[in-house]
Amino acid sequence: MKKNLPVLFVIFGGSGDLAHRKLYPALFNLFRKGALQENFAVVGTARRPWSDDYFQETVQQAIVENVNAVDRDLVDQFSRHFFYQSHDVTDENHYIELNNKIEQLESQFKTQGNRTFYLAMSPQFFGTISQHLKAQNLVTDTGYNRLVVEKPFGHDLESAKVLNQQIGDSFAEKDVYRIDHYLGKQMIQNIMYLRLTNPLFDSIWDSEHIQNVQVTLAESLGVENRGGYYETAGALRDMVQNHIFQIASQVAMKKPVSLTSTDIHQAKQEVLNSIQMYDADDVNRFFVRGQYAGNDSENSYREEEQVSPESTVETFVAGKLLFKAGPLQNVPFYIRTGKKLAQKTTRVDLVLKSSHDLFEQNQDNVISIEIDPENKLTVTLNGKQLSQTDLSSLQMKFAYTKDEVAQIPDAYEKLFYDFLIGDRTNFVHWHEVKTTWDFIDRIEKTWQEDAQPPFAYQNGSMGPNEVSRIFEGTTDSWVFKG
Ligand code: NAP
Repeated sequence: MKKNLPVLFVIFGGSGDLAHRKLYPALFNLFRKGALQENFAVVGTARRPWSDDYFQETVQQAIVENVNAVDRDLVDQFSRHFFYQSHDVTDENHYIELNNKIEQLESQFKTQGNRTFYLAMSPQFFGTISQHLKAQNLVTDTGYNRLVVEKPFGHDLESAKVLNQQIGDSFAEKDVYRIDHYLGKQMIQNIMYLRLTNPLFDSIWDSEHIQNVQVTLAESLGVENRGGYYETAGALRDMVQNHIFQIASQVAMKKPVSLTSTDIHQAKQEVLNSIQMYDADDVNRFFVRGQYAGNDSENSYREEEQVSPESTVETFVAGKLLFKAGPLQNVPFYIRTGKKLAQKTTRVDLVLKSSHDLFEQNQDNVISIEIDPENKLTVTLNGKQLSQTDLSSLQMKFAYTKDEVAQIPDAYEKLFYDFLIGDRTNFVHWHEVKTTWDFIDRIEKTWQEDAQPPFAYQNGSMGPNEVSRIFEGTTDSWVFKG
């Protein structure tokens, strides 16, 4: 890890939930490990009129609440790098005051003119902020200027294009870091290591050997207090356009020419460009949406706070993707995600084709990569049952130990370090955003024109029964049954 990286952060939305739960703890861990030392400062901004002292207290509180085994002296020392500027992002004059504060802190903390602007607030402001940063001269040419944006990046292809244009007027693509925090998860990063460094996997990572790929992002919770946001998004926009496509493209892409960010993005983009786009008939055949129906003790989605009692927003989606290029061309990718499902899990299962016809009984051969909450690799094999002649299913399991898991940096810590050193590998390129929205928009359009609401499913199940439709014409089925 590089030490004492000089940087000044401006966190827009500095009083918000994301900053409190994720961003300040991530910065603290980097401080504890030495990546950030004396030459960093943070300006938190939001409209409420906080003082520096009060802001430092909230930062300390964020660390105590969200980081294990903290040394209070270190937390105090850390919080003295934090400063607050009351700021309305729509007010031009506030950027001038903000710049004055930044310049004073740059000189005090010797941050070498390196500025990172983190937009931890509603996406409706991303364009306005980035335009003001340029117009009011907060983007300078002394050090680097990086812009970090949270998801969602747009609501559909059109809004994403507008946003990208607004950002592009002030920041070059190489300086824009679009967060998909799944890319900071260790087991997702491990997919590349596993597949590219082991002949055992590398040699069978193709359509000759792989029958299908299954990506499951299941949550056991409902929408909780985010009903208002969810009503504008739904499972397809909230999870498939970003997280599921990012995972699927890492599995489906060809071997990159090198491990540079450019070559990895190139490999991902090639495979995403090859995705089979669906017309309305295809959408109805290959995609199924659902909504949790509630029970005696739990709400249905329509009974959640800030949700319309007639809402047709999907809390579950399953579908089939096909890539027309790459090693897994034409191999079905079955994907699903939803709320109030049987179990919280993020996993990828690669089902292998049967390689023998000598034995009558045939078990599934599967490589399962569990990402969350487990960090586990399981290979399900065929073998002989002891003392009998029958084939049986054997499992080879590798799980990181509890101690190793406890040491895993949070996704945000990993991503913060990456953008501090200018490594864009685990961030989303504009081309990826564009292609995935194009795919998603076609599904949304079909659903909007469709009179049929989402299928109801039981809380605690794995989605509506109608999901089996996506396997029609095949012998495939879900490996993970919940
Ligand atoms: P939040 O708690 O509602 O925070 C919003 C922040 O924006 C507050 O600090 C608010 O402070 C500030 N703000 C609002 N309007 C402003 C204005 N006109 N000028 C200046 N500041 C303004 O939201 P959040 O949950 O932190 O989410 C932030 C972003 O991260 C969103 O894009 C969200 O989709 C994304 N995200 C969040 C999470 C999460 O776990 N929370 C996870 C993934 C992505 P004032 O009211 O004082 O101005």
